[in-house]
Amino acid sequence: MFPAKVARAAGTGASVPIECCQICGHAPLENVLSLGYMPPVNQMVPVGELPRQQPWFPTNLLYCAQCELVQLGLAVDPVIIFPPEYPYTSGTTKLLRDNFAELYAEAALMLKLAPRDLVVDIGSNDGTLLAPFIHGGHRALGIEPTDVVKIAAARGIPTLQRYFTPEVAAQVRRQHGPARVVTAANCFAHIEDVHAIVEGILALLAPDGVFISESHYVIGLMDRLQYDTVYHEHLRYYSLGSLANLLRMHGLEVFHARPIPTHGGSIRVYAARSGMRPVSAQVAAMLAAEPRGQAMRARLDAFRKDVMLSKLRLLAMLRELKESGARIAGISAPSRASTLVNYVGLDEAIIDYVCEVPGSLKIGKSIPGTAIPVVEESDLFDDQPDCAIVFSWHIADELAPKLRAKGFRGKLISPLPVPREI
Ligand SMILES: [Zn+2]
Repeated sequence: MFPAKVARAAGTGASVPIECCQICGHAPLENVLSLGYMPPVNQMVPVGELPRQQPWFPTNLLYCAQCELVQLGLAVDPVIIFPPEYPYTSGTTKLLRDNFAELYAEAALMLKLAPRDLVVDIGSNDGTLLAPFIHGGHRALGIEPTDVVKIAAARGIPTLQRYFTPEVAAQVRRQHGPARVVTAANCFAHIEDVHAIVEGILALLAPDGVFISESHYVIGLMDRLQYDTVYHEHLRYYSLGSLANLLRMHGLEVFHARPIPTHGGSIRVYAARSGMRPVSAQVAAMLAAEPRGQAMRARLDAFRKDVMLSKLRLLAMLRELKESGARIAGISAPSRASTLVNYVGLDEAIIDYVCEVPGSLKIGKSIPGTAIPVVEESDLFDDQPDCAIVFSWHIADELAPKLRAKGFRGKLISPLPVPREI
């Protein structure tokens, strides 16, 4: 039923080109966008360490004309892209904390969650998604492969440090019983063997259980020119149509979906076993609004051209600043900063440093592929460089007033979708 020849990089210690669609097996796939070669975004070399050998991987997007899935052209072994010292923590982003509080409120009401109901979060990171469920009195369990589980444990969020597989799903069900809700926020597009993951979710879910996923939305990605969210963690870029198709292959039906603001534009999608729940009108409306076939190809072509132009525009703006003698810093070092910096070709001669909020595990390390150091935010206010590029430009409206309130006087530049002063 499911494609057998899909690329598997896990266990190779290297990478494998994706030759057929990860969901439906269709080949050949059509090339949408090439960003060149990129270092893994989470291998950040400590500041002061001598440059050492590092792998770089081709970074391109492919389109499946059969199931509409936009996907990465290369699968990289998870041990390379999710190292144990993985420095990403979702709790440091206010937008994510707010989003998960809102997810809990929405899900508890819609699904009428009872106190003893079990909620399992796949890729639970530091437990930010589960925290409101625990405060609401529900049983909760996170599944997370990286050392970030230590932060979750310190916050009192029970977490199993494993990759999610059907075997782990069966083990959790034996120990804790079936799950009323399984969640996967911003990781359902990351895991290589997606059909096994969905089978694992089915094995874990109670008969009336609900799977809730949040994924970056490919239509919003194109609309806001968020090519910087393309990196090797993100194997798939879902539309509602392509995601619903994947779930349908496993007997799951999407019954509710809506856009949410996280990561610059995502979709939250509720699915249950087919026929278990009435399907909301919003689902049909969102599906009808999505481009398909030739219309999708035209959107992708325009996207490719706009990405190229945005690079040239940003370089032109930075050239002017540098010719006038300006010193330039960066604001925040999300994973997407690595894609932008490396695609545009920024380096430590152009950007003096990038600052992060206190507590970020990235402080003291370098932006991948460069020697641009990540420093604590207070350095920016002491130093007052002439301008700063906001790499978290998707939350620039939230960040800019805070930076001003804390005393930053320089220019603030949003690099995308069109480079501009904020
Ligand atoms: Zn496909």
